[in-house]
Amino acid sequence: MTLDQALAEARGKYALIIDLNKCTGCRACELACHQRNELPGDMSYIRVYPKQKPDGSPYFLPVQCQHCVKAPCESVCPTGATYHHESGAVLVNDKTCVGCRYCMVACPYDARRYDEEKGIAEKCWLCLDWVLGGGVPACVQACAPGARIFGRLDDPDSEVSQLIASGRAKPLHPEFGTEPGILFYIFPGE
Ligand code: SF4
Ligand code: SF4
Repeated sequence: MTLDQALAEARGKYALIIDLNKCTGCRACELACHQRNELPGDMSYIRVYPKQKPDGSPYFLPVQCQHCVKAPCESVCPTGATYHHESGAVLVNDKTCVGCRYCMVACPYDARRYDEEKGIAEKCWLCLDWVLGGGVPACVQACAPGARIFGRLDDPDSEVSQLIASGRAKPLHPEFGTEPGILFYIFPGE
């Protein structure tokens, strides 16, 4: 394999599936994100929400940037600081973000966090440096119950591809129309 081929492969599409049947609400993902990104206070790019099933029993819903294909945060960004990487991840260029926060208003998943000190509206970047090096995001490493499944979407044999192809893993709030590109969920009972 040539270097170009290796790089092209390393930049292939990824998916992160959260199995809500396995999530215990421990919030280790929130903390791992906070620590990995050296975020101020108790800031994290992940929020774990307590929810109720129709029968009244509890479950937990971790939410972070869904890396939307039709990302409204990208289209409203006046400087082009929010952009799509070839891996499908939606990233923020901290040198060109002017802190206008239009993206925070535009994101229907409330996935942006404003860092007052830096003046930047940040978000999950999938720990892409680790991923391109062959690793997994910090939240995936931290999830002891194995509720977070990370892998290659452009490999039809990967666990993530199979879960999505089977219809078990689905986007969160498809009615928002933003087409989540990397985050998918296995909902309670599915
Ligand atoms: S680390 Fe895993 S089990 Fe814990 S809250 Fe996050 S997704 Fe759920
Ligand atoms: S979830 Fe929000 S921040 Fe992430 S790509 Fe979609 S609109 Fe942008």
